[in-house]
Amino acid sequence: MNLMLLGAPGAGKGTQAAKLVETYHLAHISTGDILRAAVAAGTPLGMTAKSYMDKGELVPDLVVIGLVKARLQEPDTAAGFILDGFPRTVAQADALDKELEALGKQLDAVISVEVDRSALIDRLTARRTCKACGAIYNVLAQPETASGVCPACGGELFQRDDDTVETVTNRLAVYERSTAPLIDYYSKKGLLRRVDGNRSVEDVFAQIREIVESAAR
Ligand code: AMP
Repeated sequence: MNLMLLGAPGAGKGTQAAKLVETYHLAHISTGDILRAAVAAGTPLGMTAKSYMDKGELVPDLVVIGLVKARLQEPDTAAGFILDGFPRTVAQADALDKELEALGKQLDAVISVEVDRSALIDRLTARRTCKACGAIYNVLAQPETASGVCPACGGELFQRDDDTVETVTNRLAVYERSTAPLIDYYSKKGLLRRVDGNRSVEDVFAQIREIVESAAR
C-alpha cells in the first residue's frame, strides 16, 4: 500500500501519518522530518534548508526530489510507504511519477486532508512536538501539555521555529500558490480522496481507514 497525504500545513498530515504507520506498518517518508533532522545535525543540507524553512519558503525542488529518491531506495519502503509533505509542487509530483515508474511502483491513493484556514493558523501556532518520541500535540486542546512535558514519554516538548504567526502566514500562502494545484493534478489521475480534516483526530482517521481499506481491495 503506497499512500500520499496532501494538505495545508497544520491539516494534521503528520498526526494521521503516525496513526497510519502504527496501523499498517508503512514506511513514513516526511520531507519535513528529514530536513529538520539535517538542520539539527548541522549538515550542509541542513544549513541550506534552514534558510528556506525559517522563512516558510519551500526548499528547492532538486534538493527534496533527491532526498525522496534516496529514501524510496531504502528497503523498508518495499512493503509500502506513506508520503507526508511531498510532493509540494507540480515539478516534484512529475519527478515522483517518473521515479515510481522506474521503480515499478504506483500510488494506491492520495488523501487530501482539508481544513478551514482559520483553524490552520490556530493549530499551527498551538502545535508542540516531543523532542524524544516525536508525538504531536495541540497545547490549547491538550492543556496538560502546557507544562512542556510529553504525556506519552516524559520528553521535552518544543515549538517548531516555523510555527510562529509570521512564518505560518507565509507557509499558507506558499501552500495555496505551489501545493494546492496538486489537488487537481491527482484528481485528474483518479487517485484523489478528500477527507474533512476539521473533525477530531479519531474521526478523521476513521475515514482515512475506510479509504485505505477500499484501496487495498
Ligand atoms: P513540514 O514539516 O512538512 O511542514 O515542512 C516544514 C518545512 O520544510 C516546509 O515549510 C519547507 O520549508 C520544507 N519542506 C518540507 N517538505 C518540502 C517539500 N516537499 N518541498 C520543499 N520544501 C519542503
